[in-house]
Amino acid sequence: MKAVEVGERFLRYFERRGHAHVPSAPLVYNDPTLLFVNAGMVPFKPYFTGLEPAPWKRAVSIQKCVRTLDIEDVGKTTRHGTFFQMNGNFSFGDYFKEGAIEFAWELVTGDQASGGYGFNPDDIWVTVLGPGYHPDYPEGDIEAKKLWLAQGVPESRIQPRSLKDNYWNMGVPGPGGPCSEIYIDRGPAYGRDGGPEADEDRYLEIWNLVFQTENLSAVRAKDDFDILGPLPSKNIDTGMGLERVALLLQGVDNMYEIDQVFPVIARACELSGKKYHADHDDDVRLRVVADHIRSSLMLMTEGVVPDNEARGFVLRRLLRRTVRSMRLLGVDGAVLTELLAVSRDVMKASYPEIETKWTRIAEVADAEDASFARTLASGTAIFDVAAADAKAHGRATLPGDKAFELHDTFGFPIDLTLEMAAEQGLSVDREGFTRLMQEQRNRSKADAKAKKGRLMATDAYQQLRAVGETPFLGYTELSLPTTVRGMVRNGQVVTAANPGDTVEIVLSETPFYAEAGGQDSDAGVIKAAGRTWQVTDVQRPVPGLVAHTVTLDAPLTVGEAVEAEVDALSRRGARQAHSATHILHAALLELVGDQAVQAGSYNRPGYLRFDFATPSGLSPQLVAEIEERCNIALRDDLAVTETTMKLEDAKAIGAQAMFGEKYPPIVRVISMGDAWSLELCGGTHVASSAQIGLITLLSESSIGAGTRRVEALVSTDAFAHMAAERALVNQIGGLLHVPPEQAAERVGKLIGDLKAANKTIEAMQSAQALASADAYVRDAKDVDGVALVAAQVPGLTSDQARQLALTVRDKLGSRAGVVAVLGGEADKPALVVATTSAARDRGVKAGSLVRVGAEKLGGKGGGKDDLAQGGGTNSAGAATAVNAIEVAIRQDVV
Ligand code: ATP
Ligand code: MG
Repeated sequence: MKAVEVGERFLRYFERRGHAHVPSAPLVYNDPTLLFVNAGMVPFKPYFTGLEPAPWKRAVSIQKCVRTLDIEDVGKTTRHGTFFQMNGNFSFGDYFKEGAIEFAWELVTGDQASGGYGFNPDDIWVTVLGPGYHPDYPEGDIEAKKLWLAQGVPESRIQPRSLKDNYWNMGVPGPGGPCSEIYIDRGPAYGRDGGPEADEDRYLEIWNLVFQTENLSAVRAKDDFDILGPLPSKNIDTGMGLERVALLLQGVDNMYEIDQVFPVIARACELSGKKYHADHDDDVRLRVVADHIRSSLMLMTEGVVPDNEARGFVLRRLLRRTVRSMRLLGVDGAVLTELLAVSRDVMKASYPEIETKWTRIAEVADAEDASFARTLASGTAIFDVAAADAKAHGRATLPGDKAFELHDTFGFPIDLTLEMAAEQGLSVDREGFTRLMQEQRNRSKADAKAKKGRLMATDAYQQLRAVGETPFLGYTELSLPTTVRGMVRNGQVVTAANPGDTVEIVLSETPFYAEAGGQDSDAGVIKAAGRTWQVTDVQRPVPGLVAHTVTLDAPLTVGEAVEAEVDALSRRGARQAHSATHILHAALLELVGDQAVQAGSYNRPGYLRFDFATPSGLSPQLVAEIEERCNIALRDDLAVTETTMKLEDAKAIGAQAMFGEKYPPIVRVISMGDAWSLELCGGTHVASSAQIGLITLLSESSIGAGTRRVEALVSTDAFAHMAAERALVNQIGGLLHVPPEQAAERVGKLIGDLKAANKTIEAMQSAQALASADAYVRDAKDVDGVALVAAQVPGLTSDQARQLALTVRDKLGSRAGVVAVLGGEADKPALVVATTSAARDRGVKAGSLVRVGAEKLGGKGGGKDDLAQGGGTNSAGAATAVNAIEVAIRQDVV
């Protein structure tokens, strides 16, 4: 059975049983606690926590998931993919345990001709929460056990397990409950007897049924939590691994061999000439390649680009591990696009958007291939130095911090470092490396915890939100009389606050724009009882609720009448900047192309920043054109209009939406001119484009592969910037004694003159040094019969130093002699060593002498026996360098 069919059957089965089919949410989803959606229930969280009413009683979905924590298992176990699809059925206060278990059993064991998966009931094991693990469940989940028995599962194949395995919670206060998993026994060839508790490779988990039963007041760990009481309405959340079911029904060994994944393995075999199933290590590499390629493809389809942090870093890691695995399989050079195309061809049936995004995916992949090749080159240089250093000090081990640096800064997977070290006959301090990695993980865990802390703090806002939304009247009103509806201080709801307290005030309605859609929050004041407080921040901590941050200097109580007043000038600036952002976006789409879609933006009075997708940088000429196009749009005084319409209508007329954003069914669309700019937007805007006044672009730069950032100033800030530039040009003109328009030409001439003067100085230096050649020879020191001429001439370029060394060497004629010339700058000394043939006959070599000398200068050097060259970082070591050369001559001479 094809993987697609596994999904289809699941959907059809539950649709026939009254479940609404909800399409997969994007992997990149606006949930601050997750990098990527990692389970089918994630998009339904607001319904499970009671934040929003569920629009359906029953739902079914196939959710795209990425689990970064499973990355190390990929290819080694049979069942872990970084990307996979989770089939799920959900009940919001409708059917519960009984329904969930009946449905699951019927679908799993139902015969294939009538839409089931047709598993043999005798191969099925289930797990339930066992007795004695939690005071609220002294006998375990006996309900679930009875229901399984009723389906005909014998007691011997119902395995009790601990809270860790069979109790579900979200890691934060909220819903929780026991769960029950379904396993398929693959037979004794796959491992030990004894059920899932004994062997999770032989007994393959395919489906987890979660029974959301109670409200948890505190969660300290998976198996350490406090139960507050029963949930008002009990829910069902299940997750079935589509790939796991497919692998069983396709009779293959593991999930990388199913129809949606294996073609990449096959292609990788062709490219490398390797045979699958010939060598265990190669097989793991091939499976890693196939898994990572598919996951990368799915992420790139959603606009994720390789980067050094967060989501982009996960993608970069997947792509680089792929390239590395291919290298270990013997394939150097660019491989990504070729492999991604294979995955595209098998995945596009389920995800047609892969094809429409393909051009861009290939561009980003090529860029990453090239950038990793460069990284490999620079990382290799760092590695070589570290390896040489270890050897020079007689160590057989590369220090752990070097391996970590290579990993952290250059994205070197540890196996790459291990292999390169082995090639040099070195081992790697893996313990040190692992310790540093662990420290880094702890840091990021602490980070994630801090973030969860923030999530927990939303409890207070949810309480206030339960009373109702905060109507935003700021599109038309700047000032309102209203009342204090609630306050939050330090994450707690309070009814009164005192002077000195910083509180977040919730009002009955507000003219203040809360930061959203790239637009910064409004500035302004809240006035009460003769006092005026500056509003320092305005946020929507939970959807629908606006919180105004204020530091009080007088008491304030809930229910008090206040005046909310937005600063008119700052609002005007905000409207100008936000409208200017739309204009810049439209200009980019027009001049750079359709692919220049928004990847992120930020605007505040006077300033805007806009990130967009494009494979290559913009030429200065194009930037100038874009700036001009923006200002023409201002001159044309385009009308800015606002309409509300259905989301699908807005998309149909081509309104630009942010990818991965969740939009309500009714949206606001801002249009300019004759639909020249058309965007879904909740922000505040000018009435016509001329009100923006002026836009000037500041800079254009890269912020990661395939993404560029443009910054701009708006209105009087744009003017102030241009005025400052004019003053600067005038000042330069004044210094040069020419009118500003001749300044550039004048500077060009000055640079030319300076270069010529430098040449003259160099020539004079050279001549002077050469003139002293005889004197140097006279001062030669006898070192065991070898004449050592040491010339220290600061400022000499390395070319000049070489010339001097050769001239002096000539003058030594047939004598055994060594010339060492030290030139360069204080922080960049240059060293040249030359030997006469008589010296070479006696075993003295320029190459090794220069190495010894350069080391004392804090650098490196090398070359041939007759002439060698090096440099360093500090000329303070010059005298020591000469001494070291002398010592080395004594050692070498025969
Ligand atoms: P395991 O213990 O095997 O890692 P899990 O307990 O993490 O599984 P759940 O979080 O319960 O799994 O997810 C529900 C279902 O999703 C699982 O029963 C399994 O079929 C599937 N699943 C989970 N993780 C993966 C993965 N990395 N690759 C493929 N399928 C997965
Ligand atoms: Mg898991």
